[in-house]
Amino acid sequence: MMDIKKIVILGSTGSIGRSTLEVVERFPDRFKVIGLTTNNSTDLLLKQVRRFKPTYVAIANHESYIKVKEILSLEGCHVLEGSSGLIEVATLKDADIVVASIVGSAGLIPTYHAIQSGKTIALANKEVLVSAGDIFKKIAEDKSVKILPVDSEHSAVFQCLQGQNFKSIRRLLLTASGGPFFGMKKENLKTVTVDEALCHPNWSMGRKITIDSATLMNKGLEIIEAHHLFGIEHKNIEAVIHRQSIVHSLVEFTDGSIICQMSNPDMKGPIAYALSYPERLDNVMKQVDLISIGTLTFEKPDTQTFPCLMLAYVALDTGGSMPAVLNAANEVAVDMFLRKKIGFNQIPVIIDKVMSIHNPVHSEDIDVILEIDRWARVKAREVIER
Ligand code: NDP
Ligand code: MG
Repeated sequence: MMDIKKIVILGSTGSIGRSTLEVVERFPDRFKVIGLTTNNSTDLLLKQVRRFKPTYVAIANHESYIKVKEILSLEGCHVLEGSSGLIEVATLKDADIVVASIVGSAGLIPTYHAIQSGKTIALANKEVLVSAGDIFKKIAEDKSVKILPVDSEHSAVFQCLQGQNFKSIRRLLLTASGGPFFGMKKENLKTVTVDEALCHPNWSMGRKITIDSATLMNKGLEIIEAHHLFGIEHKNIEAVIHRQSIVHSLVEFTDGSIICQMSNPDMKGPIAYALSYPERLDNVMKQVDLISIGTLTFEKPDTQTFPCLMLAYVALDTGGSMPAVLNAANEVAVDMFLRKKIGFNQIPVIIDKVMSIHNPVHSEDIDVILEIDRWARVKAREVIER
């Protein structure tokens, strides 16, 4: 009988959190959930608690915590609150693996503490590596912590690299679906609506990443994420548009070979691989029917129309705290677009403006990054109000 892995899910009520629980539900002899966290989705959290019986939960938002702390306690779990509560759940003594699936830089601190406490990380929350990749890499190395990618492209690269010599990597090619506005020109993007932007052709995801996919910022963030996860220079990481979302990324080696990973677009695949690594679980995803798919296409991204991708390269090339500024300004701009305060084409303009007034610093202190994150948010709002 194999040991049951004890899992903590940061952001269990989100798209990745829910898919993780589906994997746990399918493999009850492999996984047991011991901690869950949310911000506001208390009704869903209560359902999850009743179904999965974690010993600890944490609720970030104070009002939401007050609303449900008693009823959750009656279910027999410890109920914690706020940032300190999230940290406590992220570092539970018994946890074998922490799934980092909070969206945005809100995940920085709990994930940081999970690494500090030596937990293996299944990382979906790419923004933490974008903002503080150098710091996270260093503490992960110091603590001998494994960061296993959940993002589908990075899981694909990670799978392609099993048994390979990293010195033989020439390029990483990260695939992008192109999002709902692929093929459109800037002029036509002026008037696209929030509902149109939220209509992703291949993946069902949280709102923020769905907008990031429409602007191509998601691929930009993923290039920075790949740089930190695999230690590859940004000039050797490229994005390629692949409309079918069957090839999840490719690795080119120095001999001219390319190895790729294919599967249907289903996040349960990369989640299950991170949870069970280095093993694979049976029948996680529907089998790929290559004959009915027929054609796989690859195209160059249109960076004139979707400048966010280039902004990410600039941020990574500049280094220091610039990627944290890119990320924070993007979070504000996406939020404002979702609230219908700005148009789609303004998203890159706002990020560019905030980046242009930032003097990047190099720091190993997470508090410095948090301070810069707050600064960039204030500046982004100022740019929008002007
Ligand atoms: P969702 O918006 O669906 O879920 C986000 C989760 O984080 C929710 O549980 C939410 O709680 C919680 N949360 C939000 N804000 C805070 C906060 N301030 N403090 C504490 N918790 C908070 O996002 P996704 O699941 O789509 O994405 C999660 C991460 O995974 C992102 O970084 C995304 O880029 C990455 N990712 C997602 C993929 C996907 O398919 N969805 C694919 C690859 C990567 P509440 O429910 O209360 O709002
Ligand atoms: Mg991805």
